[in-house]
Formats: sequence, structure tokens, C-alpha cells
Amino acid sequence: MEHIVQALYDEQMEQFRQHFLKLHPYDQAKFYIKQSPEVRKRMYEYLSPAEMAEIFDHLDIEEEEYKTYLSEMDPLFVAQMLGHMYADNAADILSELDKKEVANYLTIMDNEAAKDIQGLLHYKEYTAGSIMTTEYIAIHANQTVRSAMQILKKEAAHAETIYYIYVVNEQHQLVGVLSLRELLTSDDDAMIADMMNDRVVSVFVDEDQEEVARKMQNYNFLSLPVVDANNHLLGIITVDDIVDVISEEATDDYSKLAGVPDVDIQYNPFEAAKKRLPWLIILLFLGMMTANLISRFEDTLQKVAILAVFIPLIAGMSGNTGTQSLAVAVRRLAMGDLEKEGKWSMLGREALTGLLIGLSCGLIITIVVYVWKQQFFLGVLVGLALFATLTVATVAGALIPLFMHKLRIDPAVASGPFITTLNDLISILIYFGLATMFMDYLL
Ligand code: ATP
Ligand code: MG
Repeated sequence: MEHIVQALYDEQMEQFRQHFLKLHPYDQAKFYIKQSPEVRKRMYEYLSPAEMAEIFDHLDIEEEEYKTYLSEMDPLFVAQMLGHMYADNAADILSELDKKEVANYLTIMDNEAAKDIQGLLHYKEYTAGSIMTTEYIAIHANQTVRSAMQILKKEAAHAETIYYIYVVNEQHQLVGVLSLRELLTSDDDAMIADMMNDRVVSVFVDEDQEEVARKMQNYNFLSLPVVDANNHLLGIITVDDIVDVISEEATDDYSKLAGVPDVDIQYNPFEAAKKRLPWLIILLFLGMMTANLISRFEDTLQKVAILAVFIPLIAGMSGNTGTQSLAVAVRRLAMGDLEKEGKWSMLGREALTGLLIGLSCGLIITIVVYVWKQQFFLGVLVGLALFATLTVATVAGALIPLFMHKLRIDPAVASGPFITTLNDLISILIYFGLATMFMDYLL
């Protein structure tokens, strides 16, 4: 590393290239983003567009940062670099830029690369089309293994993966697939049509990327073909892109559960506060509703002041169990479990779980309160309230994401803080409702 930095500062191009190009492109990318703009400009001088393209194929940065980097380069250099990148990655970057800039780069770019990228730019974000690449290998069925191997040899350098070879008909409709292993291990004179697998699993071009990830996981393929409604082969999605999708979706679900629009490690405190505050302010008002509810029971509270001691316990516990069942439900929905198991059976199980949790915690607290405060009825009341709130809160934690799923809202937005605050409200209502009802016994 020191050699590389030193060579850059000393303007020793050959030395820089000698050390830098030995690094894996990912490490090159890590090095690149750590440099100052001046040093980066020197890197553009010392590296070719093709070498820069490898770095950009391995960059994982925010949208705005791409704009910054590209603006530092000469437009021709950008166009050439994008042309050398994998079409799907180049399209990802271009989709963050203004239309005018995109058109600009595409006109100076090599025609063939421009066509590939342009084709990919139409697809909506988060669909199969937006993450697929057009650099796949397709052959016809009416040929021998020998001639297929020749095609493979010729096209391998430009394909994103050569492990699966897709078979298409005259209309470019997907009719079969075979793996490299199958090709290598079969007789040279065998016909492709006889040995290909003709029951091909594929995804539709506007299918959600999460759905694609699920299919990839379930079938254990290294890539999946993407087709349109008429089964024309449009592209492929490789497993490395799916790894990104899975982590993207998990981060997304996680931040929504925490009530943060996106995980904000890279922001400064002002921006972070700005992003997190909206939810908190909404929750503040929901919290005020709880406060208001408690004040309505002022009368009860005045007569039996000791009730106040158990408010945090009951509200807190209902929040805890609600968050647990929420997290489980959101995760299960994301994994597509709803298709395997109906919503009623899912809710039924959650209700039974809630009952068992409520029963256990209720019993324990009844005994504890009785031993501690020597008041039998107080113990029974707190236990009963805890039993009821935990049952309701557990079901609520699962019910709300299911409900949102039904409304086609992402269930993860039923965020943890929201469930907690809502459960506060419910638990206070149950606790004081019961206390007011059984006031005579408490006095
Ligand atoms: P095996 O694991 O049986 O040794 P392999 O290692 O050659 O096979 P895998 O990646 O494990 O290849 O794929 C298993 C099989 O699935 C291969 O026969 C391959 O042709 C087939 N296959 C690949 N993609 C698809 C697809 N989209 N739809 C259906 N079958 C496919
Ligand atoms: Mg295998």
C-alpha cells in the first residue's frame, strides 16, 4: 500500500501500475475511494478506461458519490469506462444520472455497449430486469456438443457466467438449459437437443428482485434466466447480484423495523437526526395519547396509588412481546412463508404462543407481587392484566404486518417503535380497565 501511495505522490506511473494492478479489483476500489480528488485525478491518468472499469464494477457506494467521481473524469473517459463495465453495473450507475448526461455518455460510447446498456435502462428499479445482465451465452438446440463448445470458447470472455448455457429457438424463446459440467462430460457428437434440460426455471422481467432471490435460494442455481411474457430470453441474473439484493433487502427491513428510513451510519449527526425525527415526532403524539389515557384514570390512580408502580412493567412487557412477534412475522413474510402456511394458521399459532407467554408471565408476577406487597388482589390484578396484555400484544405484533402485507404495504414499516407505542396504549387500557372494574377488591 505504501508503495502505491508513494508512487502516486512521486508521479511514478510505472511503479504505481506495477503495484496497484496486482491488487484484486475490490481492493483497488477500496483504495480508490479513500483518496483525495487530486490523487484520484492522477489515477485516471495512470489507468486505462478498461482498468478503471474493473474498479467501478467492484465499487459499492451511494448514488451521489458516483456523480462526484464521474464529474472528475473526462466525458470520453467515462463513456469508455462504462462501455468496458458489465452492462448491468453500468446501467445501475447511469440510472442515477440525469437523462441529458446519460444520453451524452451513450452517444460517445461504443455502439454495441451502448445498446446493451440502453436496453437495461428501461426496467423499473427493484425488478428482475433492473438487476439482470444481457451478457449470457445462448445457443440453438440443433447442433452438436462440439459446435456448442466452439461458440462457448468464442463468447466466454464477454459473458458474465459461462456455467449455464441457455438454449433458444429461432424466435429467441428459451427452450432449454445445460450446465458446463454437462457439456464437458458428454460426447462431442451428442446433440444439444437430446441432452438439454427442457424444463427451465425462469423469472419474469418485471418480477420483484426479492422474489428472484427467493427462487435462486430455493432452486440453488448459480444464475437464472429472465424472460418476457412470451418466454423470450432477455438476460440472466447471477448469484453475485442476488447476494447484494439479499443484503440490501435485509438492511432495508432492519432499518424500517427500527423506524429509520435507511441505515444512516454515513451521515453526519444533523442529517441523521433529520432522518430519524419524523417517526419519533409521530410516536411522541401517540405517546401523548397514552398519557392522556392514564390521566383519564386519575380517579382510579388516586384511590389505589400503588397501581402506578406497575405501569412501566406492563407497558414495557407488552412492547417486548409485540416486538418479538413483529420481527418474526416480518421475517417470515419476507421469506415467503405465507404461501406455505395460511394467514389464519400463522395467527392461530401466534395467538397460542401469546396465551402461553401471558399465562407464564402472569402467574410469575402474581406470586411476586403477592410476596412483595402482601396484597393478594393486587397480585391477581397485575397478573391478570399482564396475561391479557401479553396475549393481545403478541397477536398485534403479528397481525399488523399481515394486514399491511394484504394492503401491499411493506410489512417492515410496521416498525418496532410503532408497535411498542401502540401496545403501550392497549396495555394501559387493559390494566386500568381491569383495575377500575375490580376497584372494590383493591380497596
Ligand atoms: P449437478 O449438481 O447435478 O452435478 P451441475 O453441478 O452441473 O449439476 P448445478 O449448478 O448443480 O450444475 O445445476 C444443476 C442442474 O440444473 C444442471 O443440470 C443444470 O443444467 C440445471 N439448470 C441450470 N439452470 C437451470 C434452470 N434455470 N432451470 C432448470 N434447470 C437448470
Ligand atoms: Mg452441482
